Amino acid sequence: MSFTLTEPTYERYRAITNQNIHKYSEWERLDPELKEAVMVVSQVLPFRTNEYVMRELIDWSRVPEDPIFQLTFPQREMLDPEDYERIRTLLNNGASREELLAAANEIRFRLNPHPAGQLTHNVPTLNGRKLPGLQHKYHETVLFFPGQGQTCHAYCTYCFRWAQFIGLQDIKFEARETDDLVAYLQAHPEVTDVLVTGGDPMIMRTKILRKYLEPLLEIPTLRTIRIGTKSLAYWPQRYVTDADADDALRFFEEIVAAGKHLAIMAHSSHPVELATPIAQEAIRRVRETGAVIRTQAPLIKHVNDDPDVWAEKWRQEVKLGMIPYYMFVERDTGPKRYFEVPLARAQEIFAAAWRQVSGLARTVRGPSMSAFPGKVRIIGTAEVAGEKVFVLEFLQGRNPEWVGKPFFAKFDPHASWLDDLKPAFGQERFFYEEELARMAH
Ligand SMILES: *Cc1c(COP(=O)(O)O)cnc(C)c1O
Ligand code: SF4
Repeated sequence: MSFTLTEPTYERYRAITNQNIHKYSEWERLDPELKEAVMVVSQVLPFRTNEYVMRELIDWSRVPEDPIFQLTFPQREMLDPEDYERIRTLLNNGASREELLAAANEIRFRLNPHPAGQLTHNVPTLNGRKLPGLQHKYHETVLFFPGQGQTCHAYCTYCFRWAQFIGLQDIKFEARETDDLVAYLQAHPEVTDVLVTGGDPMIMRTKILRKYLEPLLEIPTLRTIRIGTKSLAYWPQRYVTDADADDALRFFEEIVAAGKHLAIMAHSSHPVELATPIAQEAIRRVRETGAVIRTQAPLIKHVNDDPDVWAEKWRQEVKLGMIPYYMFVERDTGPKRYFEVPLARAQEIFAAAWRQVSGLARTVRGPSMSAFPGKVRIIGTAEVAGEKVFVLEFLQGRNPEWVGKPFFAKFDPHASWLDDLKPAFGQERFFYEEELARMAH
């Protein structure tokens, strides 16, 4: 089937940053205050976009409210007013790179750059040696961070990996890391899934991706390879017009032919991302390989805090053959303040969207917090014995025994993360806390 592009193809990927964005006409026409905010905030939080995102996904007549503008361009309120003023003054006074960096780092360290114990508690060991390119938190799934896949086609302003993009988080990888993963999987036959993540692994050329993933095809206990990626939204050219697009699709077919389930875990924030002809063609091509595309995204104020947006997104995903998988709660890091939606509101949005869609889209679960003890879903609110409570459950737990048992927290309309919650019914602790304290020790 031939495919005719009705939009420019952007044959070559070009990163747009605060260094080169002034070459673009969209930038020239942007309100000076918004421009200033991009320049100031991007000293602290990473900024990167590309021509496709900027020209096809952002509707400039709706800026600054446009959701994809909010998703990819730094906004003034992401920093405290004093911090903003401090960086702005340094920039205006022509401060040196060192001065700017020192101020930026001081602000960055106040933004909880390493949430949920990722660096300290999830790095597995083999024969007494730490394996820094891996994380193993839940029984059946290991996360794999290939060294050459640690950037993205564009950066989301809310992203909890922001620290890694600016070199604050020192994950170093060497050529032997697939060897480490293979050895670890051989020692742990209970691990059925590898989740390849980043950054975005699909930023890698197919040749490199093959180098990392081919060794996994030989491991009989491994059933599923998941690839976490935003590429279908931010650079669908990866599967359609890039020089090695066809080679990537052939590799996906080989993974499937080797008897593995290949799951593309697509970050999918807004239905706009699914609307372009090239995105739909990319989805079609990926599905044709036998891979299954599952979608997930956090609920983000200014971007998708609207039940109709989620309902439309899930409907459109199902129509295109994708499977809605998770709705996440924005993590407690970076410009969280700007993006956070209270848990009570998040659950209302989830439920209001869920009610609008057919059962085929109700594969999605959420809203879910990826917190230190596990993935905790807010099932809803209820009144039990005269007390208003949140009903919660673990979708994943550091101890699998915690999963699927409803538990209760005092209702709090302002709570926006698990740490804000208190147990209901006058209890001292949540049921898992004592054990968690022992595990974290
Ligand atoms: C979400 C997540 C997984 C995968 O969980 P599933 O519920 O199986 O999708 C694995 N490891 C970590 C650290 C995660 O946060
Ligand atoms: S594409 Fe994913 S990993 Fe990359 S910045 Fe966005 S949320 Fe973060």
